[in-house]
Amino acid sequence: MRSPIDSYLADLYTDLLALTSGTPYQGIPAMADADTSKFAIALATVDGHIYHVGDAELPFSIQSISKPFSYALALDDNGQDAVDEKIDVEPSGDAFNEISLARGTGRPANAMINAGAIATISLVNDEESSRFERILEHFSAAAGRQLQYSEAIFASEMRTGHRNRALAHLLRSFNIIEKDPTPVLEDYFRACAVMVSTNDLAMMAATLANGGTQPRTGEQVMSKEAVQRTLSVMTTCGMYDDAGSWIAAVGLPAKSGVGGGLIAVLPGQIGLAIYSPALDPHGSSVRGLAASERISADMGLHFVRAA
Ligand code: GLN
Repeated sequence: MRSPIDSYLADLYTDLLALTSGTPYQGIPAMADADTSKFAIALATVDGHIYHVGDAELPFSIQSISKPFSYALALDDNGQDAVDEKIDVEPSGDAFNEISLARGTGRPANAMINAGAIATISLVNDEESSRFERILEHFSAAAGRQLQYSEAIFASEMRTGHRNRALAHLLRSFNIIEKDPTPVLEDYFRACAVMVSTNDLAMMAATLANGGTQPRTGEQVMSKEAVQRTLSVMTTCGMYDDAGSWIAAVGLPAKSGVGGGLIAVLPGQIGLAIYSPALDPHGSSVRGLAASERISADMGLHFVRAA
């Protein structure tokens, strides 16, 4: 039977399909021609139920939505203090690819911008198995199914990601990255090229909402402490230079990616995911932003509520 939530999502989908502004990300050639008619919304509850509408099984690259999950893994591998030494937790107010490194120390402002995310990858423990294998297993455990990465999107960003390459070397020069930065950068690009569907992202967001325990498999994928830290940083930094207007309008920890995905988390309750590849100038999905605003307002999800 169709639930009221299914009908609500179907109406919202039809309304927002009419929004046609924005362009797919042009910085990675393999993604430049993404089909902007594609659109999906998925809402997963912490008891593992998923409501979805549109192209919710269509795969796309996770891009920067990988960052909070890599950050949580690095936190659990090293502990908060060791991660804090390398990566700050301050909103930079800058674009995702800005060179936001502290004067003198080179410490990135936070783990949601590229500089901090590349540093995060270098903190993932690779003593027992390959670093990227661990990252892929971690993302898969949060999604509740085995994920894969796109060699084509990885290769495309390898050819064009000059600023990220420069950032990795800058981080090495400041000793924020203590090893060879080239394999670190490659694993960052691979992490960004992991293919997910909107349903996968909703389950990954629901795992965060559920304190790190995957709602369907029951696996504790991340510690509660890592989740709390990650959601805090998502709240202040997840939407980059749009974080202020996002939190004012939607009031949920969130993360966008240039692949067109967006997640938002209502702790203890809901993981929300949206996909639509046309992006605004901040690199966030236009329909993703509009859908989040509508859902937050209609369902009363904003964490600041007037009495
Ligand atoms: N792979 C992209 C980059 O590093 C991810 C950016 C994003 O999704 N905001 O530039």
